[in-house]
Amino acid sequence: MIDGNIYIEKLSVKLPVQKEYINIINDISIKFEQNLFIGIIGESGCGKSILGNAIIGNLPPYAKVEGRVKYKNYDILGDVKISKDFYIKEWGIIPQNPSESLISIKSITKQMQDILSVNNIQDKNNDYKNKLLKFFGLNNSTEVLEKYPFELSGGMQQRVLCAMGISQSPKWILADEPTKGLDEHTSKIVYDNLFKIKIEHKYSMLIISHDLSLVRQICDKVAVMYYGQIVEYGDNILNKPLHPYTQAFFGALPENGFQIIKEQNLITESQMGCSFAKYCRHCSNKCIQENPEMYNVGETKVRCFLYA
Ligand code: SF4
Repeated sequence: MIDGNIYIEKLSVKLPVQKEYINIINDISIKFEQNLFIGIIGESGCGKSILGNAIIGNLPPYAKVEGRVKYKNYDILGDVKISKDFYIKEWGIIPQNPSESLISIKSITKQMQDILSVNNIQDKNNDYKNKLLKFFGLNNSTEVLEKYPFELSGGMQQRVLCAMGISQSPKWILADEPTKGLDEHTSKIVYDNLFKIKIEHKYSMLIISHDLSLVRQICDKVAVMYYGQIVEYGDNILNKPLHPYTQAFFGALPENGFQIIKEQNLITESQMGCSFAKYCRHCSNKCIQENPEMYNVGETKVRCFLYA
């Protein structure tokens, strides 16, 4: 039977940085289960947005890829037969930065219709579009449909993007840093909209975010990324982090007193071993020589020899 889970198998992605190919994603194997809201968190540059793009088959053509992303019997990064429409039908996208994500020279009606047309939904009287916009609190939806993006506030643009994101009734939604750069008021609108999607629809969602408050409120499970790897994945990580990096990451948050992640030993590089070895107070010789796998600790998966 074909399920709707996302299976990532030994995925590595290299991209060119200053004429050299660098590992951005480094040997990730994980299953993201359908019908859940899953947060992917980590510091800037840890690879979370590239992972999101890999999952929806949106890597640049020059990316060097090893491993697979499997979804519904497709090899997402290797199967040339997959059409662009497949992604549009399966995935709704709620992008970061609303003002840059809408097309400035097209009215909201046209932009919404472009997406609906992929599923041959004509919606000539705009009934469906109005319904979607009203769902996200735009009660003056008829007026909004006639407008161009620059005529809408940031909050209204965000609501329009959420409406576009669910307009195909996708199986999965990818929300990439949905609150990044937004003021408090607009962030609150994002929270409310994602929560509305969660309560009233049965979509699965990946939320890539640095916003732990958002993840805490919305997500069923959390994946923590460090240096191109998922180091911990589970449903209680925000309350009980197990991996030494996750513990250090949370300790460095303002609400926990900005505890600095200090170097603990003299390792200059850890190409063979654990990527966190240099900063880890539990580091052993094995950690320097070998790269840990994911180990199960109850329902949580942890990439650390402490749990082997
Ligand atoms: S594998 Fe070793 S170095 Fe890496 S986090 Fe665990 S204890 Fe620390």
